[in-house]
Amino acid sequence: MDIPYNIYCNFIGGKWYLSTSTNTAKNVNPANTDDVLGTIRQATRDEARSAVNAAAYAFREWRATPAPARGRIVAKAARLLEENKEELAQLLTREEGKTIAESRGELQRSINVAEFCAGESRRMTGETIPSELPLNFAYTIKQPLGVVACVTPWNFPVAIPIWKIAPALVAGNTVVFKPASITPETAVRITTLFEAAGVPPGVLNLVIGSGSEAGDEIINHPAVKAISFTGSNGVGIRLYEQASRRGAKVQCEMGGKNPVVVLEDADMDLAVESTAQGAFGSSGQRCTATSRAVVMDQVADEFVERLAKRAESMRIGPGADPATEMGPTVDESQFNTVLKYIDIGREDGATLVCGGSRATGEGLDKGYFVRPTIFDHVTPDMRIAREEIFGPVLSVLRVKDFETAMQVANDCEYGLSSSIFSNDASRIFRFVDDIETGMTHINSPTTGGEAHIPFGGTKGTGIGDREQGSTALDFYTELKVVYVDYTGRKREGNLY
Ligand code: NAP
Ligand code: MG
Repeated sequence: MDIPYNIYCNFIGGKWYLSTSTNTAKNVNPANTDDVLGTIRQATRDEARSAVNAAAYAFREWRATPAPARGRIVAKAARLLEENKEELAQLLTREEGKTIAESRGELQRSINVAEFCAGESRRMTGETIPSELPLNFAYTIKQPLGVVACVTPWNFPVAIPIWKIAPALVAGNTVVFKPASITPETAVRITTLFEAAGVPPGVLNLVIGSGSEAGDEIINHPAVKAISFTGSNGVGIRLYEQASRRGAKVQCEMGGKNPVVVLEDADMDLAVESTAQGAFGSSGQRCTATSRAVVMDQVADEFVERLAKRAESMRIGPGADPATEMGPTVDESQFNTVLKYIDIGREDGATLVCGGSRATGEGLDKGYFVRPTIFDHVTPDMRIAREEIFGPVLSVLRVKDFETAMQVANDCEYGLSSSIFSNDASRIFRFVDDIETGMTHINSPTTGGEAHIPFGGTKGTGIGDREQGSTALDFYTELKVVYVDYTGRKREGNLY
């Protein structure tokens, strides 16, 4: 049958349902808006509620399923991700715009996370703790929370859902997954793989809908015991306020304004190449993207000149072309936001070194392409030094010494990632001690992470437990303490 395009369905209680909503939108390829992937029907509040109810109903049985058995299903999902890796990577590029190499990387990260979480299902251990009293001890067990909402952004539409859904399921929770409404097809494909892996009905539910309707209904539903959110600060903080009022557990991973600090002794080739990668990779649409370069005066001219050369040489185009180094921004709204910030940078008096406009040329006129942009002589009070742009725009702030570099790097409401380029161990470790970010990199880009290493930020970026790695299950479990008294007698001491 020749289907011109898809209509994305919700997955509720183990069945796929077409939404009854008349509120629709097109899912388009950001590299070529003539390429329509499908139609989004924004789920209604009733549909969102049904998904929560289905998850609540499924919890009893899933909770009673042994953790290693839950882990086996997640391991199967990891294998299916692996088998479908190339097809999913192509879809990810078509839907979100990142280059095919970046999509393959995101898929590999997702597989690694799912494998890691499957392994964790056999390590849901507690502690045994000796007592002050004879013939007494205590132990702890980890238990699931109930229904968990996973609310995710569009920029890593495969990896972020997987790094929430996999630990949530392994821990014994049931899940309502609310992906970004502009990346529904990857969300449908992920859910299909978990269904094929044997997740029982109601244990994982998918709601394709807008944040303001379906998302709002889910996060305010009393049966939702915990919300794991990744996205912007505006939305995250509001969601945190609402959910914490009813005592729900909340984890928010939000924006970044990640600095790279370049000292005068840095390996310049490495600093330039890594900054270009961090600032312009994924078109700057990574929460860990480099958006500020704090550079010592002595090397600033050289750094800016070489970085600008590198930026201008970047091959911009559709992500599906393997020769492309930088794809488009994700949609019209993001595209306009980036161009607006470029205007703000100019108006605030920063020096535009390169880029500064839409990218034009063959094959670029139907996509949301922006040229890699560098502003020099940015001061810490300028908006382009303070606000998250989420596009290929780098602000260079020149500093006279290491102390000022630290001050400028930390003068920011966000605290996700950072990096330093230097070979001076003393200053590197002072930087590591004092930089106010949840993750920091030495002589490598601000971006990147691994499945078995915790991920997350401080200050305005992060609320709640870290995701992934040894901390992956912390958010998704409750700790229960059990006191055991085998004296068989009424207690004499320890009466407090
Ligand atoms: P966003 O606009 O905040 O949206 C994130 C998710 O929240 C989407 O699913 C969105 O739905 C939903 N949402 C919006 N309003 C809601 C509401 N009132 N109630 C419940 N849910 C609601 O973020 P985005 O534009 O998709 O993603 C970009 C942002 O994510 C950037 O700020 C970036 O830094 C951040 N990010 C952070 C990390 C990290 O780990 N720190 C990682 C990746 C991205 P709709 O799509 O329908 O609006
Ligand atoms: Mg959005």
